[in-house]
Amino acid sequence: MNNRPALIWFRNDLRLGDNPALSAAAEAGQPLICVYILDEGGDRRPLGGASLWWLHHSLAALEAALAAHNVPLLLLRGDPAVLIPRLAEQVDASAIHWNRRYGGPERALDAALMTRLKDAGRTVKSHNAALLNEPWEIKTGGGTPFKVFTPYWRAAVAKGAFAPPQPAPARLVAHPLPGSLGGLRLADLALLPTKPDWAGGMRQAWVPGEAGAQAALARFLDEALHRYADKRDVPGIEATSRLSPYLAFGDISPRQIAAATAFHAEANDEPAMGKNRAKFEAELGWREFAHHVLFDYPDMATRNLNPKFDAMPWRNNAGEIRAWQRGMTGYPIVDAGMRQLWQTGWMHNRVRMVVASFLIKHLGVDWRIGEEWFWDTLVDADPAANAFSWQWVAGCGFDAAPYYRIFNPILQGLKFDTKGDYVRHFVPELADLPDENLHALWEAPPHILRRAGVILGKTYPHPIVAHADGRDRAMSAYRALETPEG
Ligand code: FAD
Repeated sequence: MNNRPALIWFRNDLRLGDNPALSAAAEAGQPLICVYILDEGGDRRPLGGASLWWLHHSLAALEAALAAHNVPLLLLRGDPAVLIPRLAEQVDASAIHWNRRYGGPERALDAALMTRLKDAGRTVKSHNAALLNEPWEIKTGGGTPFKVFTPYWRAAVAKGAFAPPQPAPARLVAHPLPGSLGGLRLADLALLPTKPDWAGGMRQAWVPGEAGAQAALARFLDEALHRYADKRDVPGIEATSRLSPYLAFGDISPRQIAAATAFHAEANDEPAMGKNRAKFEAELGWREFAHHVLFDYPDMATRNLNPKFDAMPWRNNAGEIRAWQRGMTGYPIVDAGMRQLWQTGWMHNRVRMVVASFLIKHLGVDWRIGEEWFWDTLVDADPAANAFSWQWVAGCGFDAAPYYRIFNPILQGLKFDTKGDYVRHFVPELADLPDENLHALWEAPPHILRRAGVILGKTYPHPIVAHADGRDRAMSAYRALETPEG
């Protein structure tokens, strides 16, 4: 037997179950060295603050899960381009395993490492842990990448059942870790906010890690899948899975989610179950499609997929951007969303669309500024889904909402938060307004505002822009793009 160790380099796959890199190394019977590197090198995008918070807890959970097998998790910080070859040499690793990532800089790093490690005579294997189908596996009949979701997903579904998840390895054998490797303690990575500690709301909202992910999945299947298709757009109801941060860090895999959903739906054969399951799987499909697009457009977070938008005259008013970030625009549904994001690191999908549309269209702000704010504040910040979705709302992405589709924040509030549960929770200063006045309170008679203790401009802001003015301004900017002079 080969007693030289195998390295498993954990990245965004922080779990033991359905982790092909870990399983492959464990099955080969070699002693293992598990490593996580806080990436501080090269041109990879650094994680945002909320993601670092999640990462801390997810790593703590992974450390504990590995420790139950007497396997330590080696923690390092720096540039993996330097650290992985050095570590492989220090421990004379015979094999290195990792699970694939799909962003441009990450792929470039992995490709360079693969060559270097192989040149040094080591076996290197990469695996798919993050997607149901990798970007190159689904192509149009002509062999090109899809640019429209519906035919993409139809082709993915037509391939038949998704690959099943692999169980966690029953047995892991650790290779001793020499102290000379310079392993850090989790606290040394300093991932948590301290001055100030703004993570209180996130601690209340989430249990990061593999066990937390499995519990969230079980809760969703038991309590919400049955109403998913009908209620997934209602932010005041828990009708979606909230699995996005677990997926972003790989605390859970899409294969595990798809398999558990199929099992649950088949065991609970109610009339609407097929519809709910298909709708939920199609949302996983949007995540897949975003990765599919990222693979071919690695600079999707910074470059308009439709170059016509390069000429858009963005206003980018700093005060208005700050009001949006702080949830002080004077539009209750927008402010509730932005405050949910700040407090919990997550926002309901319907409201993400509304706040993004409001920033880009009503305020005339470059979508990249919104994308960056989300990148910093979301616990599910994802290089594929975030950039893809911002471009989708802006109208410059693939299969995007047309630019002239401008969400009306008043009607969106009335339609999806009719009873105001969501707004009342996150904008408590408006809690005593009657339902019918909540989403356009500036139109309410003075005595209604008085009775609810609301003083516009004092306890809650006036609308930052009148809806009709914002819409008209956006439309003229867009028309100018469509018919450039000359
Ligand atoms: P569910 O409805 O339970 O869906 C299950 C899973 O499907 C999600 O966990 C997610 O992985 C995937 N999914 C659902 N909707 C979408 C979608 N529209 N696009 C891509 N994948 C989807 N999602 C992220 O994971 N990370 C992001 O950084 C991100 N940024 C966004 C920015 C904007 C402006 C918008 C409009 C959407 C963004 N989304 C992002 C997509 C979506 O809002 C979230 O995935 C969803 O709200 C997560 O909640 P959930 O897990 O309860 O979703």
